[in-house]
Amino acid sequence: MTPEERFSSVVKKYNAHVNPYLAKLLSFAGFPVEVNGEGCYIYDHEGKKYLDCLGGYGTFALGHRHPRVVEAVKKQLDALPMSGKAFFNETMATLAEKIAQSTPVGLEFCFFCNSGAEAVEGALKFAKGATQRHKIVSMIDGFHGKTLGSLSTTGREKYQSKYVPLLPGVVFVPFGDVEAMRAVVDKDTACIIVEPIQGEGGIRIPPEGYLRAIRARCTETGALMIADEVQTGMGRTGVLFACEREGVTPDLMTLAKALGGGVMPIGAVVGTAKVWDAVFADNPLTHTSTFGGNPLACAAGIAALDTIREEGLVEQSQMMGAMLLSGLMSVRDKHKDLIADVRGRGCMIGVEFSMDEIGELCVAQMLIRGMCVAYTLNNPRVLRFEPPLIINEEQVAFAVKTFEEAVHEVKNVLTYLD
Ligand code: PLP
Repeated sequence: MTPEERFSSVVKKYNAHVNPYLAKLLSFAGFPVEVNGEGCYIYDHEGKKYLDCLGGYGTFALGHRHPRVVEAVKKQLDALPMSGKAFFNETMATLAEKIAQSTPVGLEFCFFCNSGAEAVEGALKFAKGATQRHKIVSMIDGFHGKTLGSLSTTGREKYQSKYVPLLPGVVFVPFGDVEAMRAVVDKDTACIIVEPIQGEGGIRIPPEGYLRAIRARCTETGALMIADEVQTGMGRTGVLFACEREGVTPDLMTLAKALGGGVMPIGAVVGTAKVWDAVFADNPLTHTSTFGGNPLACAAGIAALDTIREEGLVEQSQMMGAMLLSGLMSVRDKHKDLIADVRGRGCMIGVEFSMDEIGELCVAQMLIRGMCVAYTLNNPRVLRFEPPLIINEEQVAFAVKTFEEAVHEVKNVLTYLD
């Protein structure tokens, strides 16, 4: 089969059996078939190499197939890949201990699942169960997943409107607005769910003190604070968990994406002893998952956390992120008519264009030049750069150069069309 035949055959299968509308969208953007991954690169069906600056929307903090994670998973595969769910499981217990030791003091317990949305489902359920309250406060443009419960807190009408009624009692407030948040949180509020930096909302950083204000209001009213660190966690923003920056300990934290080391899918709800007592004391099986906490995924999680710590990837995220941010800002300075803003923390960076269409055109131009990025789901004007934290200086320089060339090309096209 030639590479072209292989591409056509995959697209045909998408059209016939996966999702023809998605096939159209991916083809329109010019995305190829992914075949291999190694370090910061993805290789397509023609063997073409792409610098992965999308990083699986935050999944590939350690890059593709990090050898330590692959080795840990292979070793586990030969021992016990799946848990029988009746006996104690050592691998899961060890990962729970490591997460408790790595997250802010006070977060001591873990429930494992398989994705970010599932982690959010668990956290919302625990908050309702522990407080015996019904109201949930979430943020406009926040993204917490697309299963029915998590979707109820994903603040974008486009995703919700077809599926109403969703969970009752969810109230949305503008992200970053302390007064609006304080005004709606009351004695009926079970929880506030918040991303420390909005990912899909367009890499939006709240004003300094916002997370502390949420913590304070929750403590005043007895509501629980859920920090959704599915995308920001595991060193992405230049600290291990983004809520550390404000010295805040939430009652519940959700993790997924990079927790599996870019090799296995895994999600986790991390919580305090007080929440765990309230949720599980009268029924240890009140929340369960057949595949959640499976040893293969947990072995990957252990290797991921160890690698991040031992290879200094949090510091690397800070350093390479700062370099990438300043490079992208210098491109913005030359093209202020097209680029409205460049912002971010660590290796979580957003470039906001002045028009919606520019992002998509730039994505296509960068793909042609061997680099993969995408726009944020709740804000198509913002291109996100979330490269692996293992990215090096040379690769950052390539990313900036490629972005600059893409913007230049798009500008030429737009001038031509004028
Ligand atoms: N929460 C946040 C902050 C996310 O960014 C995402 C996914 O992008 C989710 C939850 C949902 O995760 P998943 O796609 O694994 O269900």
